[in-house]
Amino acid sequence: MSDDEPDVPIICPECETTSRIALSNVADSLEQHNERMHDGEDVAQVDPDIADQLANLVAEDMGLLE
Ligand SMILES: [Zn+2]
Repeated sequence: MSDDEPDVPIICPECETTSRIALSNVADSLEQHNERMHDGEDVAQVDPDIADQLANLVAEDMGLLE
């Protein structure tokens, strides 16, 4: 396993499920889940706490917090 890609937790409050998806697959997985389970509604989402952290990491990378 040389894959150091972070897993991102996603949450679906309606299905009451959580799962961890590799970062590059998150968008597709959410879309497929919402498409299949919720008629395309935006129900399943990245864990909001993590989404904030990711946003901060990206902002840090871009030097926005300096
Ligand atoms: Zn769902």
